[in-house]
Amino acid sequence: MNILICNVGSTSLKYQLFAMDRGEQVIAAGGAERVGGRESGFYWTENGEKRRERLALPTHREAIERMLRQLPPEAAVDCVGFKVVHAKGVTGVQYLTDDVLAAMEAFNSVAPAHNPPYLAAIRQFRALMPGVPLIGSFETAFHAQMPPEARLYSIPWELSERYAIHRYGFHGASHEYMTEFAAEKLGRRDFRLVSCHLGGSGSLAAVRDCRSVDTSMGLSLQCGVMQNNRIGDIDPYIIFYLAEECGMTLPEIKTMLQTKSGLLGMSGVSNDLRDVEDAAAAGNERAQIALRAYTYGIKKYIGSYAAALGGLDAITFGGGIGRNSARVREQALSGLDFLGVELDLQKNWSPRGGDDVSRDGSPVRIYVVDTNEEIVVARKAAALLMGG
Ligand code: AMP
Repeated sequence: MNILICNVGSTSLKYQLFAMDRGEQVIAAGGAERVGGRESGFYWTENGEKRRERLALPTHREAIERMLRQLPPEAAVDCVGFKVVHAKGVTGVQYLTDDVLAAMEAFNSVAPAHNPPYLAAIRQFRALMPGVPLIGSFETAFHAQMPPEARLYSIPWELSERYAIHRYGFHGASHEYMTEFAAEKLGRRDFRLVSCHLGGSGSLAAVRDCRSVDTSMGLSLQCGVMQNNRIGDIDPYIIFYLAEECGMTLPEIKTMLQTKSGLLGMSGVSNDLRDVEDAAAAGNERAQIALRAYTYGIKKYIGSYAAALGGLDAITFGGGIGRNSARVREQALSGLDFLGVELDLQKNWSPRGGDDVSRDGSPVRIYVVDTNEEIVVARKAAALLMGG
């Protein structure tokens, strides 16, 4: 069985084709970048080498057509799986029917950077690959069993119910991968974990016995720890103050929260952590404060989740930042020895994926994980396809 997994961004498309019955081997991989822009291009892996070409990709349709030409002709695609983000009243793994797409559309305004491009791309796939099942694995699914005290906001009960307003949480595929990774390493499933997915977009999850019991993102992806250019937790009255006293319109405030905040907004340097780290090392004070604020936010979540879980057995770090930034891990974990979190600074400096970077004898294991969201989605899609 061959499963094509596609990751859709507003200007990008990434794909991997998994041969599930050949040990989940990746038999094709690549993507399109700057879709809709003047510098658009396509890249793919051929005989282990990354190749690249410039070509006009005005919309996702052309990117999908180019990808289809690149897939090995002998490998029939049995289904296309998507790591879809959000839908009103729908989660889990689903065939992408009209009803499911309508439920995604109903949450366009809470996931504006994710749902519209996915919907557009899924409709193109339907047109270009008629008869091939399209399956979505929702990023909210891993958190769907959170208890009500973690799930509900203290707004009037009727509003929560009428408009489906509650904490959903995201990055489910990554948190699930890291949870299973920790379960394998620890050799048991009854443990307390804080899973840190830290990338351009990031969230933490408190996991007990391999289930998410709390997470830092909410109804939308605009809360929790600071993001690359998106806001994290803020006092909601900042929004009213900006609108009522400072002359900003609601669309302006929304754009500011979604694209001009986070690491970029605080540092004034970049939305890329590497640039912020470089600027901080060169003495840029705002960059130094942004880094401290980012890692302080992570530390606070780890501490609160340790309290929620009644202690910790493991912490996992994944995503572009969690996997690669020794400085972020070090700053976020500093001073947490009282929880049994003892980082080995040397091991932490340049770990291989999967390494335990805690000190020998540390009560809490700390794993740096090459999280693989695509394989989680491929396995779920395969299970649904086989009637599981
Ligand atoms: P992701 O969204 O998971 O692809 O992660 C993107 C983020 O990871 C960006 O902010 C990058 O700056 C960050 N990142 C990637 N590689 C490194 C690295 N070697 N050191 C620090 N940050 C990194």
